[in-house]
Amino acid sequence: MSSTCADCGKTVSAGATRCRSHANAHKNRGEAMRASSSRALAARQAAGMKRNDALTSQKLKALYAADPAAKARLAAGGELGRLRQGPASQAKRSQSLTATKLAHIPAADRDTYRILAKKVGAKTAEQMLADQRQAEARRILAANENGMVERERRRQREAY
Ligand SMILES: [Zn+2]
Repeated sequence: MSSTCADCGKTVSAGATRCRSHANAHKNRGEAMRASSSRALAARQAAGMKRNDALTSQKLKALYAADPAAKARLAAGGELGRLRQGPASQAKRSQSLTATKLAHIPAADRDTYRILAKKVGAKTAEQMLADQRQAEARRILAANENGMVERERRRQREAY
């Protein structure tokens, strides 16, 4: 025998009064669950932490077990978000930030740019790299023209 959900009318299994999602919603609205959630959130906020989710709480438990001092460190810094995201996502974020912020610097020059920028400032470093690229382009152009002139002379010499 089957019945229907009290909230949405969907067919549910025998003995059930609600479908799975409405049963969960009903349970979460209940006094006991709300009190329990409030206590947990208040404790997290008192410890300077943000709202929790299952993945974070799993990772935090493992971290606290391995390193008891980590709890204070996490509460002090913004490590919680980075912990939630993981190293692969951090690397991706860093690449994407670099692509945006250093879009005007060719990818091959970015490492040099970072070193230079620390020593002489961003503007100067940018100018130095641009000058270097221009000089290189002029050198290549000149080499090409010289090569063409030389080949043309050789062709004319050998034509007679
Ligand atoms: Zn329902």
